[in-house]
Amino acid sequence: MAPLIELRGVTRIYPSGEESLTVLKDIDLTIERGEMVAIVGPSGSGKSTLMNILGLLDRSTTGSYAIDGEDVTLLDNDARSRLRREHLGFIFQRYQLLSDLTALANVEMPAIYAGHSPAVRRDRAESLLQRLGMGARLSHRPGQLSGGQQQRVSIARALINGGDIILADEPTGALDRDSGEEVLRILAELHHEGRTVVIVTHDMSVASRADRIIEIADGRIVADRRTRDQETQKALPKKPANAAGLRVVIDQLLEATTMALRSLAAHRLRTFLTMLGIIIGIASVICVVALGEGSQRRVLENISSLGTNTLEVFPGSGFGDTRSGRVKTLRVADAKALSQLSYVAAVTPTVSTSGTARFGATEANALINGVGAQYFSAKGSKLISGRFFDETSVSGMTQDAVIDTNAANALFDDPMLAVGKVVLLNAVPVRIIGVISAQQGGFGGSDNLSFFLPYTSVQTRFLGDMSLRSITVRVADNAESAVAETAVADFLQQRHGKKDFFILNTDDIRKTITSTAGTLTLLVSAIAVISLVVGGIGVMNIMLVSVSERISEIGVRMAVGARRQDILRQFLIEAVLVCLLGGIAGVLTALGFGVVFNNLASGFSLVYSTTTIALAVLCSCLIGLTFGFLPARNASRLDPVAALARD
Ligand code: ADP
Ligand code: MG
Repeated sequence: MAPLIELRGVTRIYPSGEESLTVLKDIDLTIERGEMVAIVGPSGSGKSTLMNILGLLDRSTTGSYAIDGEDVTLLDNDARSRLRREHLGFIFQRYQLLSDLTALANVEMPAIYAGHSPAVRRDRAESLLQRLGMGARLSHRPGQLSGGQQQRVSIARALINGGDIILADEPTGALDRDSGEEVLRILAELHHEGRTVVIVTHDMSVASRADRIIEIADGRIVADRRTRDQETQKALPKKPANAAGLRVVIDQLLEATTMALRSLAAHRLRTFLTMLGIIIGIASVICVVALGEGSQRRVLENISSLGTNTLEVFPGSGFGDTRSGRVKTLRVADAKALSQLSYVAAVTPTVSTSGTARFGATEANALINGVGAQYFSAKGSKLISGRFFDETSVSGMTQDAVIDTNAANALFDDPMLAVGKVVLLNAVPVRIIGVISAQQGGFGGSDNLSFFLPYTSVQTRFLGDMSLRSITVRVADNAESAVAETAVADFLQQRHGKKDFFILNTDDIRKTITSTAGTLTLLVSAIAVISLVVGGIGVMNIMLVSVSERISEIGVRMAVGARRQDILRQFLIEAVLVCLLGGIAGVLTALGFGVVFNNLASGFSLVYSTTTIALAVLCSCLIGLTFGFLPARNASRLDPVAALARD
């Protein structure tokens, strides 16, 4: 059988400035299964360097290293992590426990990377600590334990995944005599169980506990003697079976999340300031979108009160045309001709003037609209009481009026009793036959008192003029409004011989407003995105700080078998968590702002969309991933030996 550990011609050379420093020189070393070996030598002789190579934390510059007959010199990082995790257990002079974790959690940590289930690793960690006399200290943190107790925790940690080979670098170096004695007793016991134990020490009295003492001086092995016969081989205690698959990933994610939360909680103010950029960015994006949506909805509501898919034909060349009042070319005949067209559903001529309405002692200014019978259906007017007038009223020039609720409220004590009353309009008596709801305020609407009479009546009794203010055309449902607009324009131009009119298309207005609101939202969102990027840079900055503060923790995790991707994942999760929490806080801030805004402002309300909120939360996670990647990658690329050397 191949020896457990076999080094052949191993050297370790450190570059130092122009020169290089050869710390290990041509080391040949064989260690058999179940041996207890002490490596002794003066400080600086290369003991720790040798130990790091044995522990697969460092690579030799030249030479070969085989474990159980398998050459490990050329293994990649992941394979080396696996070997460390499954076969090696480290005990350090300064314990290297994670100060945020309890004794139990410290012992469990390597088992998480090995993929053992929470119940299994908890049981095992508990029984190991119990066996080492730490049963009463399971939930103590390292700061609450003495040196000897901490070292016992670190021994339990070395054993949790099996620990067939225990590598202890000056395990008693920081301990008082009694605690040191206790640690040595435990190591001897582990050796008796059949484990291979390698102790590095500069203390001969410690070394004398081993079966074999290897002396090293100036990077060379100068003596190698056996003080006792090697014990007969024993079968090693059974190891817990390795779990695999999805549960391992979930476990590690959970553990990384708890770790991340713990480290965020340890620096609350810093975490909050880091999040602030994200909070402001997310809250402003959501508010801006809600504001845009709310105002747009309001405007569109007003537009839809103009009627759907309608064209409004006015005399003149446009709204700015000062002569349009004198252009009298739009005639009732035009409206009649238009109503014959196939793509026109309804046509109504309109004229308007203003006047005074009087009922009893009540007097008010009113807008007098002369309209066709189809006006109400073209506009989608809502009848509240009474009825609309019809074609016979139009041809008969009756003095029947439909009024809106503004007028009904102004003139009558009880608006519901308006129908049937006779009102004097500019001294002309008109009978109220119906009441409709007033148009919305804002665009196109008004607080005017509106009277609607047949246009023929208004033309003859109020205006004495046969020209029209406008013609409202409702396009047939199956016709395209833009096509209908061109066709109506061509048709009228042909009749008049020139273009002395202009057409307003409600569909165009709707599109213009929608696209204007869209542009504004885009603009302000761009600003919000900038604030998110700035927030992301803040997160990156803090993560870099966090990594540099936790270098020795990263070293310990690597030593107990964490792969680079485990470290990467842990820091990524932390970055994503900061951003996610910031994002959620941002969403809550935006919703809170909405409640305040909707209570204070009467014009319109903020309209939140779940899509925007979901996108914002997703976006904050992406920021975490993006800006957390560089710090996390830095952490995962650390050299374990250098990381462990950091204090
Ligand atoms: P020991 O553990 O026996 O006290 P080490 O193995 O720690 O000694 O160090 C042996 C020599 O290697 C020392 O002279 C030390 O300065 C040198 N050394 C250790 N690590 C490094 C490094 N990363 N870069 C350069 N020199 C190093
Ligand atoms: Mg050393």
